[in-house]
Amino acid sequence: MPVIIEPFRIKSVEPIHFTTKEERRSILQKAGYNAFRIHARDVLIDLLTDSGTSAMSSDQWAGIMQGDESYAGSESFFHFNDTIKDITGMPYVIPTHQGRAAEKIIFSILGGKGKYFISNTLFDTTRANIEFSGAEGIDLLCEEGKHPAVPAPFKGNIDTEALAQTIKEKGAANIPMVIITITNNSGGGQPVSMQNIKQVREICSANNIPLFIDACRFAENAYFIKLREEGYSDKTVKEIARELFSYADGCTMSAKKDAFANIGGFLAMHDKELAMRCRNLLIITEGFTTYGGLAGRDLEAIAIGLKEVLDENYLQYRIRSTDYLLQKLITAGVPVIQPAGGHAVYIDAKAFLPHIPLAQYPGQSLVCALYEEGGIRSVEIGSLMFGKYDAAGNLVPAMMELVRLAIPRRVYTQSHIDYVAETIIEVFSKRNSLGGLRILEETPLLRHFTAILEPVSI
Ligand SMILES: *Cc1c(COP(=O)(O)O)cnc(C)c1O
Repeated sequence: MPVIIEPFRIKSVEPIHFTTKEERRSILQKAGYNAFRIHARDVLIDLLTDSGTSAMSSDQWAGIMQGDESYAGSESFFHFNDTIKDITGMPYVIPTHQGRAAEKIIFSILGGKGKYFISNTLFDTTRANIEFSGAEGIDLLCEEGKHPAVPAPFKGNIDTEALAQTIKEKGAANIPMVIITITNNSGGGQPVSMQNIKQVREICSANNIPLFIDACRFAENAYFIKLREEGYSDKTVKEIARELFSYADGCTMSAKKDAFANIGGFLAMHDKELAMRCRNLLIITEGFTTYGGLAGRDLEAIAIGLKEVLDENYLQYRIRSTDYLLQKLITAGVPVIQPAGGHAVYIDAKAFLPHIPLAQYPGQSLVCALYEEGGIRSVEIGSLMFGKYDAAGNLVPAMMELVRLAIPRRVYTQSHIDYVAETIIEVFSKRNSLGGLRILEETPLLRHFTAILEPVSI
């Protein structure tokens, strides 16, 4: 197969600030061994997140200039509205400032005590908004999704048997919605199959429960369907996306992912009555119905981005470049989640650093080592993020100790990714010399953002 090249050329560049290993050692110490506390300027390759970090196209920047900032009835809103209607088939489109603002609105209306929201895996802001309303979130990921090292084509699928069973147990009347997250962000960016979505639709229809899609990475998911699911190789990604949305009653989306925007989100749905209630809340929290929490220029950039993301040359490059990094790591024997997700590569830190006890945060130790070795910023998704303490004050570890390398869209070139692979492989070769960390200071909630740590002396 010929090499797949970046399907763009670079018009505007942003310099990277270089640091030495010595400088990075001192930066790490000052940041309390927490990558969230490092200044972005001191990061060489930033793989902390793919959210809001995309490079916008020249068309999007031109759209920024043409954004219509009228309070009501902005031309940019109609461009945004028509683009989303065209892709989702949903007639009611509500702009919000981020995905979580869309979540806040819909769950404030449909949530509450005694209600259950069922999903393949709820993203953390989604779960937080559900729980904040007093309701409960239930994840029913398929069995393949629970085994990191075992490859399968659709590890993001929901377990449909468990879904039917849970509906029976909790009562359909207490379930305001089933939510399918595509791709499954918290489950390694793994895709959901069209067949799975169809089956969930049937179960929802039989029980009179609305189905919503958390659509942040809908185009990446649609491309995986084209590549991996029978009967879809001849369809366009847009046709696949339309089919996928046709099974849903509504969706929420963060435009900071597949819309290549630096901010934004939306809610879309078929139900007129529900849309009216959402708009009432929108007006008191986000803004008027034709701009939500956004400027006209943001609406314009999102509308253009949503068209660009359906370009199959882009998606081929996107999915291939994530897989390119994964394959290099697999060849070198680095333990990773397989196959590659759409937006990120995940290293299994428990297998990478088996000599570091879980209570000394092997994932965070690896995050620090990647920064020190090569100035690469990644994020721990393990016991620092999800660990709890038992009554005796001992750590109850997370299910997995992962380090996520999220790839910003259209930002880094192949040589940047080669450098990332080299750095990881170098750290892997000296993994036995890495030690653990202990927490010095932490907050009771979301401690990973602010915790201060120090190395455990060996
Ligand atoms: C990012 C994300 C959200 C939340 O969107 P924000 O724009 O960050 O508020 C919700 N669901 C998934 C799957 C996401 O990846």
